[in-house]
Amino acid sequence: MSFKLTEEQEMLVKTARDLAQKEFKQKAAHWDQTETYPHENVKRLVDLGLIGMTIPPEYGGGGRPLIDALLVVEEIAKTCGTTARIVVETNMGVVGALMIHGTEAQKKKYLPMVCNGDKPAIAITEPNAGSAATELSTKAEKQGSNYVLNGSKCFITGGGVSNIYLVFARLNDEPGAKGIGGIFVDAGTPGFKVGKREPMMGLRGIPETQLFFEDCVVPEENLLVGAGDGFKKLMTAYNGQRLGAATVALGIAQGAMDEAVTYVQERKQFGRPISDFQGVQWMLADMHIKLEASRLLLHRAANNAGYGLPDHMEAAIAKAFTGDAAIQVTNDALQLFGGYGYSREYPLERMARDVRMFTIGGGTVQMLRTVIATKLLKKKISQRK
Ligand SMILES: Cc1cc2nc3c(=O)[nH]c(=O)nc-3n(C[C@H](O)[C@H](O)[C@H](O)COP(=O)(O)OP(=O)(O)OC[C@H]3O[C@@H](n4cnc5c(N)ncnc54)[C@H](O)[C@@H]3O)c2cc1C
Repeated sequence: MSFKLTEEQEMLVKTARDLAQKEFKQKAAHWDQTETYPHENVKRLVDLGLIGMTIPPEYGGGGRPLIDALLVVEEIAKTCGTTARIVVETNMGVVGALMIHGTEAQKKKYLPMVCNGDKPAIAITEPNAGSAATELSTKAEKQGSNYVLNGSKCFITGGGVSNIYLVFARLNDEPGAKGIGGIFVDAGTPGFKVGKREPMMGLRGIPETQLFFEDCVVPEENLLVGAGDGFKKLMTAYNGQRLGAATVALGIAQGAMDEAVTYVQERKQFGRPISDFQGVQWMLADMHIKLEASRLLLHRAANNAGYGLPDHMEAAIAKAFTGDAAIQVTNDALQLFGGYGYSREYPLERMARDVRMFTIGGGTVQMLRTVIATKLLKKKISQRK
């Protein structure tokens, strides 16, 4: 397996890096402090073809493999975690599920919207169903040629900003995963309301909100996957999102590390740069090792996925390792800035808040370890009870 980038990939990375460093870096604190969605960044990404990279050209996308999207995500995340998440969600997750399981009509309707910068939202979590997603209770009941949705969701990224919502709902009375399917609900559909914005710790340029469905009628054509194996299909597609999310964590941590490498060579104490001290050097070396290992795990999973979806186990290993490692590295970078790292005048405190989410959202690192152990022990999660 080769990890050497092609010439085309090198150019892609350069484009994303220039954009992130020259344009996105200066306003990253603004989106955080004002809790504003970075529409102007999305426009720039669309103009440069960095949204919808994995979507086939016939729907307006770039037709690129997953690894190319991850390369871009890392560069953007180095300066702005919020914007990098938008790149993830316009290339993976709902997009992956739609490309593989969607009808031609669904693809024609939604994929061009995504390519124009419309970030889809994925609505799984409910107040009483987080890690235990298969216990969700939002219902989508078939009535004639429609589905009628009732229930609520929480922590949905992009609530109120997104126009496309892929809602995980219970389609019949069968408990657990077998009763769950996925259905598209468009913003503005009567009976669909966006609730309060959660006051979050980081990544505050994108809202996390509640969603409410009260006798919300959607046509049966909106069903993406039905009951039976639908939940499994959705989760398989979600492995792409997991790699994307972990790459945001990697990028934030690499960005923090880059800041630290510059800072320790400029900051003088005891009459010399603090980079002269072995204690500091060893911290940097350990940080670098963690980032390199994370990147290798992520790139292995993405390269093996090609133009398709990553392997469940490879994605779980990569996200679990990177989630923990990125928090440690960002925290150490902040430490190397001393009091300035804790100051809101420097980006480190924002980066430390932003990166904290990646051991929680999209499957906690504990649940990912359960996935890994389950596979090792060849035991179904549902058999644990
Ligand atoms: C910033 C952010 C964005 C999000 N965006 C979305 C989104 O767009 N769409 C969406 O659907 N959801 C979203 N979520 C929700 C996220 O997926 C859930 O928070 C996550 O799945 C955990 O669920 P929970 O918060 O209910 O925690 P819980 O499931 O209650 O877990 C609490 C703790 O218990 C541990 N735990 C639970 N069960 C086990 C077990 N069996 N073994 C070991 N440990 C266990 C967990 O690891 C965790 O540490 C988002 C969350 C955040 C923070």
